[in-house]
Amino acid sequence: MIIAETFKGQNIAVFGLGRTGVTAALSLQAGGAKVSAWDDRQAARDEAEAAGVNLVDLTAADWSGFDELVLSPGVPDKLPKPHWTAERAAAAGVSIICDIEIFAREVAARPEKMRPKIVAITGTNGKSTTTALAGHILKACGKDAQIGGNIGRGVLDLDRMHAGTYYVIELSSYQLERTQSLRANAAVFLNLSPDHLDRHGTLEAYGRIKQTIFSNQTNADAVIVGTDDDYGKLLCSQLKANNGRRIIPISAHRSLGHGVSVLDGQLYANLGKRSQKVCDLREAKTLEGLHNWQNAAAAFAAVESLGIPPKMIGDAILSFPGLAHRMETIGTAGKVRLVNDSKATNADASRQALASYDNIYWIAGGQAKAGGIDPLMDLMPNVTKAYLIGEAAPNFSKSLKKAKVDYKVSGHLEMAVLCAARDALQSRKPNPIILLSPACASFDQFKDFESRGQAFRESAQRLIRLFEEEVNRKKDNAA
Ligand code: ADP
Repeated sequence: MIIAETFKGQNIAVFGLGRTGVTAALSLQAGGAKVSAWDDRQAARDEAEAAGVNLVDLTAADWSGFDELVLSPGVPDKLPKPHWTAERAAAAGVSIICDIEIFAREVAARPEKMRPKIVAITGTNGKSTTTALAGHILKACGKDAQIGGNIGRGVLDLDRMHAGTYYVIELSSYQLERTQSLRANAAVFLNLSPDHLDRHGTLEAYGRIKQTIFSNQTNADAVIVGTDDDYGKLLCSQLKANNGRRIIPISAHRSLGHGVSVLDGQLYANLGKRSQKVCDLREAKTLEGLHNWQNAAAAFAAVESLGIPPKMIGDAILSFPGLAHRMETIGTAGKVRLVNDSKATNADASRQALASYDNIYWIAGGQAKAGGIDPLMDLMPNVTKAYLIGEAAPNFSKSLKKAKVDYKVSGHLEMAVLCAARDALQSRKPNPIILLSPACASFDQFKDFESRGQAFRESAQRLIRLFEEEVNRKKDNAA
């Protein structure tokens, strides 16, 4: 755990006692802050207390005595409706921060030479993959890389910092909104598309918050911008026009005069005097699809900017084990491949998988986002049949009917896998893919996208076992 020494003697309210909230409270307590922690849920309070967190009923507390409020990033302070803690904080003039801000202040408090290196990554889609990949590369190159933030461990749960530590941190807009002091040695802005607008109001507001990932950077730090969407393109030209910083554009679509790009699967770095081929991403089996090539370009740019040799980075990219629930191949039943893309919780994320394959037996649905699957209709030639689950099924049916796509309302995931398997196994076309890429949140039927992905994995593995048993039985009978 990283101990929050910069808050020593301060009076800090902590609200939201999930994993990161508990760690923040313990870190502040260990550093000598007076912590008053609370949660609306009794079970969360009990767990936090058992872990040693100092509980104080914040509904009855005198808020004028607090220096700051550490508010869990998932709890809204403005839209759609401010949580009561945010209202109390505003009335008492107490500023709102999150665990990332605590971490940032701990780093900033150290003498420059003693500071760890920080790679920070944001964007609407691809954050986790890029973060895990950048962390993997650094580890493969022998560095003490710690991966966390919005992925895996919370930042304050990571190992204590020293000058040789590389923190690779995934940042959501919710976290960035409550972070003011972070200085990233390499900051990545991957892409932007409409998401979380209930919380941020407009795409512009959402984008502005994400851009704060570049705050506090100096001219020595790397500003890495994805230029494959309109927002990123514009952002990159604005950044270039406004200052003389070290801006590294990246693209998975076009060649760049200066930057990191992918052309026909070849990763090129054009950062100095000459263009250099880094590796052939078609050999990276866990980084299929143009979107993953964007993630690879971003991870390369970030790590290279810290002085790691391109050849070592290229080798490490090819050994990336991949992340679960992101276009993760579970296995094959005969010629049918089963792919778990449960993390695709919005249309833009599903677009990537739908564009990467053809002859798809597509399992979609759950709790729909604004616009549903209408933006995906141009990809329907890749879909042989769709299997709809969850709340979104009636609405998605309408979109598919209009686009003349064959579909079935399966209701539940397990049924969808069975129906898709029956159809895919009979397909006459080559390489059918059963793809779970819901374009929806999972909360109507599952705890989270991980449990949805796990349920798919179990169904898929059962199916593969049954298929293999059947094949063996036939072999035995023939013998
Ligand atoms: P995040 O952490 O931002 O949600 P992930 O790396 O977990 O992103 O990927 C989630 C989903 O988003 C993947 O399943 C994939 O479909 C899609 N995705 C991944 N990278 C990108 C990208 N660079 N651009 C667009 N979509 C992407």
